[in-house]
Amino acid sequence: MNDTVKPHRRITDVPPLDKTADGLVNGIQRHFLRTLGQHSTSTDYHYRYRALAYAVRDHLMENWKSTKDAYEAKDGKRAYYLSLEFLMGRALGNAVLNLGLEPQVQEALNTLGLNLEEKIEHENDAGLGNGGLGRLAACFVDSCATLQLPVTGYGIRYEYGMFRQKIINGHQVEEPDHWLINGNVWEVERPEYAQRIHFGGRTECYHDDSGVQRCRWVDSHDVIAIPFDTPVPGYENGTVNTLRLWKSAATDEFDLGEFNAGSYPESVAQKNEAEHISMVLYPNDSSENGKELRLRQQYFLASASIQDVLRQWVEHHGTDFSQFAEKNCFQLNDTHPTVSVAELMRILLDDYRLGWDEAWAITSKTMAYTNHTLLPEALERWPVYLFGRLLPRILDIIYEINARFLSEIAKHWPGDIERQRRMSIIEEGDVQQVRMAYLALVGCFSVNGVAQLHSDLLVEGLFSDFYALWPEKFNNKTNGVTQRRWMAWCNKPMSKLISETIGEAWVTDLDQLRKLAPYADNKDFRAQWAACKRENKQRLATVVEKECGVTFNPDAMFDIQVKRIHEYKRQLLNLLHVIHLYDRIKRGDTENWTSRCVLIGGKAAPGYYMAKQIIKLTNNIADVVNNDPEVGDKLKVVFFPNYRVSAMEIIAPAADLSEQISTAGKEASGTGNMKFMMNGAMTIGTLDGANIEIREEVGEENFFLFGLTAAEVDATRGNYDPNAIIAADVDFSRVMELLECGHFSQFEPGQFASIIHAIRSPDDPWLVAADFRSYIDAQQEAATVFQDQDRWQKMSVLNTAYSGKFSTDRTMQDYNRDIWKLEPIAPNGLTR
Ligand SMILES: *Cc1c(COP(=O)(O)O)cnc(C)c1O
Repeated sequence: MNDTVKPHRRITDVPPLDKTADGLVNGIQRHFLRTLGQHSTSTDYHYRYRALAYAVRDHLMENWKSTKDAYEAKDGKRAYYLSLEFLMGRALGNAVLNLGLEPQVQEALNTLGLNLEEKIEHENDAGLGNGGLGRLAACFVDSCATLQLPVTGYGIRYEYGMFRQKIINGHQVEEPDHWLINGNVWEVERPEYAQRIHFGGRTECYHDDSGVQRCRWVDSHDVIAIPFDTPVPGYENGTVNTLRLWKSAATDEFDLGEFNAGSYPESVAQKNEAEHISMVLYPNDSSENGKELRLRQQYFLASASIQDVLRQWVEHHGTDFSQFAEKNCFQLNDTHPTVSVAELMRILLDDYRLGWDEAWAITSKTMAYTNHTLLPEALERWPVYLFGRLLPRILDIIYEINARFLSEIAKHWPGDIERQRRMSIIEEGDVQQVRMAYLALVGCFSVNGVAQLHSDLLVEGLFSDFYALWPEKFNNKTNGVTQRRWMAWCNKPMSKLISETIGEAWVTDLDQLRKLAPYADNKDFRAQWAACKRENKQRLATVVEKECGVTFNPDAMFDIQVKRIHEYKRQLLNLLHVIHLYDRIKRGDTENWTSRCVLIGGKAAPGYYMAKQIIKLTNNIADVVNNDPEVGDKLKVVFFPNYRVSAMEIIAPAADLSEQISTAGKEASGTGNMKFMMNGAMTIGTLDGANIEIREEVGEENFFLFGLTAAEVDATRGNYDPNAIIAADVDFSRVMELLECGHFSQFEPGQFASIIHAIRSPDDPWLVAADFRSYIDAQQEAATVFQDQDRWQKMSVLNTAYSGKFSTDRTMQDYNRDIWKLEPIAPNGLTR
């Protein structure tokens, strides 16, 4: 079949979309009837949501196309954000906001007798990430689109995202998150860009036509990577960038031998192994997992993405790679996609036949690495035997990179064998290991931490040898969050008040919020501010009532800690304070009492025993506290189940007090802290991660500081005596007595033995007991200030006013200025 007849109209000649409410009504009706095949008597099984989503998506499609065209026409430098996680949350509200379509959508839905808030609830969160690292990737792509930077996100389209958390009898129970079950309106499959990925087999060396020795990967078992694209809209600027997620599939030549032998079903069943690669997200946050399937996922993402970029390069520039490094940059989100360094080398060497030096010059000018943690348990290492079996050609290349690197070390520090051993990409020992962070340090031209303290600690500690060699590689890029989702979308009351007061420019220029500072002294403004906060608290109280069956009084202080459950984040310290408050109530020490509603939420990795114990303890304490009539409204405690992006959109705007209480030196940055600050919460926190910068911005008088510094934490090791600390503190002793006498485990004796042991252990790495007293005192200070509502509201306004630094718009401008060096490109000359 040949499409050779001269056309009367081109297939792309489509009449422009009608952006009015009427046009949207037509779109919704058309998609309901014709795209989804529904009829007027259909009962609502997500179909109304989907019809609306399709109608909104229509408005993204043309901008998406013109953004791609503009990037191709300009042929400028581009960047790629490679991440095993993108915690996107829901797309509909964000698309409506960024398209500036909200009034029309509201009107269209009114016409149809539908409700926007209700439809939005039908969308499953895209939960393709664990926590901060994955959500950061989502905020980054949002800001890049708003800044009109040509950045593509590359990730994996997991069939099952982050598990759903149920609480049964106080325990976490995990349920699979089959988020695609009702279809996904926001993705477009692009089979024409599928890539072939090698696993297994062996390396074969041979001489090419000109007699040069070359290598190739042979006898491999291949898997196909199929891209699914999701639009990433900028804020009212005509730009729609792309998030490209790969799904794994079997090649169609799967075992023909068996097929011919008549074992057709057996041979089809082998498809499974290929399809497993993108089946499920590993639910570990800040700890490595070490499973073969995880390494498969990492290489699958790296290989598919790099091949995709090279395909586009060759289409436009042929096989001349002399300009490649000037025009392309890969940003690696943690070590997870770091095998990319070796994969780019492999393709340049084996497929395009560049020499080593030429290929290395390109690779090492193209790759940039972001470190996300100092925790040793999170540093990825892979056994050499596993690497060699799964990715034999890649292991060869890593050996060669390491050999050349070690000879550079030998030149720089002659005779320093110990240093060579320390810095080697291959760790010696019973089982040889590939150190992924070192591969990144050697192969990347830029290495950054995610908050100033974290970047400083990296070069002083973990990476000090590499800093001595290449100080120019190291830099800091303090994290942020997008104010479009985390303020404009999720906090309508405050956004409206802010825009009425200082204009709307803050939505794309968060420093504008400084203009709010003078209003902190304005009584009328403060009253309006407090009314917004109260409305948000009422909204959360309704959700808490429904989810937990506990009544929150919106006039009480909402004291909130939501984040992954991890010992370093010290939810346990929070619980000790809750028990202390309970103890005070029970002994009648309640003069000038500040009523509190304490909310704790977050998922524990399924194999992390202590984290799961902390969830159980939270629920048991909540049971005792909430059902004690003597406690009443003075204190309420809940564990909020299934914490996720869409839950945070309700929680952050409702917080009075934000708990950021990690052991100093352990939280690389934190970004939850920024969402809370932006929404006018006060922080109670340690000098850790971005807390330090938050306090710098807002002023020490507007931050509740407590606890040891990172240096003091280090100095405490080896002379830490928690039992002496407990014995010397009456309040602490009473708290421990309540825990140890089984007050919170009446029918479950011994339930919390491991938690008690951890608190009392001189080897507790998180030093919970060390910070107890100063935490309790800082909490009392917060409670006292809360009673002076004028002062509290003033501090609340100032927190929002000075949160400008923590926009990912600023973070992305920093990455772009120092690392990527991209020119913004406005499709059709459109800007804001
Ligand atoms: C922001 C966010 C996080 C990160 O929170 P931290 O307090 O920085 O650990 C984790 N999960 C979700 C759903 C988030 O929105």
